[in-house]
Amino acid sequence: MSQETKQSQGDAKGAVTEITPQSENFSQWYLDVVRRAELADYTEVKGCMAIRPYGYAIWELIQKAFDERFKKTGHVNAYFPLFIPASLLMKEKEHVEGFAPQVAWVTKGGDEELAEPLVVRPTSEAIIGTLYAKWIKSWRDLPVLINQWANVVRWEKVTRPFLRTTEFLWQEGHTAHETAEEAQAETLQILGLYKECAETELAMPVIDGEKSESEKFAGASRTYSIEALMGDGRALQAGTSHNLGQNFAKAFGIQFQGRDKSLQYAWTTSWGVSTRLIGGVIMTHGDDNGLILPPRIAPYQVVIVPIPRGNWQETVLPKAREIKASLEARGIRVFLDHRDTQTPGWKFAEWELRGVPLRMELGPKDLEKSAVMVARRDTRTKESMPMDGLVDSVVRKLDDIQAALLQRATTFRDEHTTRVSSYDEFKSVMEGRPGFVIAGWCGSVDCEAQIKAETQATLRNIPFDGVGVKGTCVKCGKPSPSEAWFAKAY
Ligand SMILES: [Zn+2]
Repeated sequence: MSQETKQSQGDAKGAVTEITPQSENFSQWYLDVVRRAELADYTEVKGCMAIRPYGYAIWELIQKAFDERFKKTGHVNAYFPLFIPASLLMKEKEHVEGFAPQVAWVTKGGDEELAEPLVVRPTSEAIIGTLYAKWIKSWRDLPVLINQWANVVRWEKVTRPFLRTTEFLWQEGHTAHETAEEAQAETLQILGLYKECAETELAMPVIDGEKSESEKFAGASRTYSIEALMGDGRALQAGTSHNLGQNFAKAFGIQFQGRDKSLQYAWTTSWGVSTRLIGGVIMTHGDDNGLILPPRIAPYQVVIVPIPRGNWQETVLPKAREIKASLEARGIRVFLDHRDTQTPGWKFAEWELRGVPLRMELGPKDLEKSAVMVARRDTRTKESMPMDGLVDSVVRKLDDIQAALLQRATTFRDEHTTRVSSYDEFKSVMEGRPGFVIAGWCGSVDCEAQIKAETQATLRNIPFDGVGVKGTCVKCGKPSPSEAWFAKAY
């Protein structure tokens, strides 16, 4: 296959033959990458996607990274049922109002109409709260620190793979505490964990802060979020952590006998990240050639492509296998692509499109020089690396790529963040190059709603370092107690 046609080589079913450039249509670029890199596919059920093995391998690595951190901070995993009796969901008034429009119902089991309809969980506060009411009796039973990895269903009208789907995978942590202070500390600990994990593992810089009243979780006292900026200048809410106060404890009867023997309501939290993070990774790092994966969550960190010349199967291939084994011995994930059904040029383009951080090309000439050609996906630069000390060089290179991706995304975010002092300036930024806008906000729901209606920008959060930065509200001119971050968002 010639170099000219490599990018238009579609898959066998001809689903997507090339990737639309980002500058032409970012949204189409995203869909093309998802399909062409074989991350996910549509199904017969509208809004429900199948996550393909390559996409699922990314999810498993993300899952592992978060799960390790949850466990290190004292959380344990459990599993709760998919169905919730409708009456349970109704117990917390704000919660049910928030979720009712998105709930999927089960009204029949086999031939039988159910006496009480079930809902498919949109989130699990109701079922878990009911169980916590049984499990928690005394202050000695606290804190309860449980997480579950599960699927949830929210009936969405407009869907997009990974970003918004009717069924999605996530983790939901549910904790119960003795005091308000402990619940607040837990809520913020998890937010900090989310930020650190997103930046360390996904190389995705995020702003952490508190949501406004109108954007908070249905039934929560306080909601905090991490917000990332995508390559098209739109924000993505990448994780949320909620302090539920005693709202759910009161609705579900989570009571315990306190140290002073009095009966008290527990203080609870809930928090989650989902497969949406995969969408975030795609749109934070990808380019016109496709996906770019941070090494820490890349299913294959290195792909080795042997160059089939001469008696390569007796010379090049054994050496490639040897390199693979030595890299794997250091914990590096390697794919040796020795398929003889595809040319090296096709493989280069293919693995570039699928975002593998490092590609090694090994041919007879490299063997003679006792070296290997190594290409970086992020910079698309190539260099010859000596075989001597190769494993160490690769480990260093992968670390470099991980750091460079975070740096690049942070620079992009900073370059697309504007602090404005007037509403005219706010509007002109939103009409021009999109990104985050930092502005004073008085705290009024009306100002927030008018800004949204007039500019499509929503209040993403009030970052911790923006609290106490006094000024005037960008909309009404009244004094503002803190700065808020606005953006058009997914
Ligand atoms: Zn205002």
